[in-house]
Amino acid sequence: MKISELYQQKKTVISLEVFPPKANYSIDTIYQTLDELSDLKPDYISVTYGAGGKTKDRTVEIASKIKNGYGIEALAHLTCISFTKDQIREVMGQFKEHNIENVLALRGDIPEDPDFDFPNPLQYKYASDLISEVKQQDRLCIGAACYPEVHVDAISPAKDLENLKRKVELGAEFLISQLFFDNEVFYDFLDKAQQKGITVPISAGIMPVLNSHQIMRITKLSGCALPAKFTRILNRYQDNPEALKEAGEAYALEQIIDLMTYGVRGIHLYTMNRADTARRIMASMESIRRLQG
Ligand code: FAD
Repeated sequence: MKISELYQQKKTVISLEVFPPKANYSIDTIYQTLDELSDLKPDYISVTYGAGGKTKDRTVEIASKIKNGYGIEALAHLTCISFTKDQIREVMGQFKEHNIENVLALRGDIPEDPDFDFPNPLQYKYASDLISEVKQQDRLCIGAACYPEVHVDAISPAKDLENLKRKVELGAEFLISQLFFDNEVFYDFLDKAQQKGITVPISAGIMPVLNSHQIMRITKLSGCALPAKFTRILNRYQDNPEALKEAGEAYALEQIIDLMTYGVRGIHLYTMNRADTARRIMASMESIRRLQG
């Protein structure tokens, strides 16, 4: 099923994100996680794609297992910055072979390795180039990323929104947001997107914080703001991993309850492959969704 249809059918679409294990780990480790996550019956599960390409075959394999093995809708991420048109077409051929109907079309983070072997000249510069390419096939439902706190490379918030609008005009049918810890920032972004004429469903990306090292790395990468209430949790429990995990989960759940009350179209949980945390949060999300009718 196309994910765009799920957004038409459900009041709040609940999705989970997993990433493939690193190339030197057995792929079976993700299947143990998926055994547990699939029990939670999310509306779809997305699988990230390594922009460097080392785990790219695993994305297709895992998305196929989600769709054809567990019977849950799969969203395969696909990045383009480091690939040639032939390589992208090959992956799209694999999507077709495995009956994968949904793709999250991304530029990808620029690999930090100065010796990284980019196609010369670059064949895709932005996610919008990939969206145009995928759209030509007219088989896949396309999603794209959005940034409530503005993408780190953007010249200005207005330009970033213009670039987002272009992705939607070229064929993105739904958007998933970068993680954020301040819901007001997300609501403000929803208003601005609406004013700009972006009317496709936007899922809110939520990441339960599991440890302080992870949060420092992520905030550096994404540039997302940390509300005082959240920083207090980090400071108070930085030397107590168990307490930090509990408080991080509770914080994420509080965010989700507020988002669902506000009436957002979807919640996308960055699970970090932690089925235990996802299970506890999903249980509460499902009850709220049921009670909302
Ligand atoms: P784009 O939409 O191309 O935007 C990148 C930057 O270029 C922005 O600053 C934008 O404003 C600007 N821009 C866009 N078009 C133009 C234009 N025509 N002219 C000038 N500037 C322009 N990364 C991975 O490697 N693998 C993943 O699986 C993955 N999954 C993700 C899932 C989600 C939900 C999110 C939010 C991010 C994910 N990322 C992933 C990270 C993402 O690849 C990076 O944030 C990347 O830096 C930007 O990707 P994009 O698709 O948003 O890029």
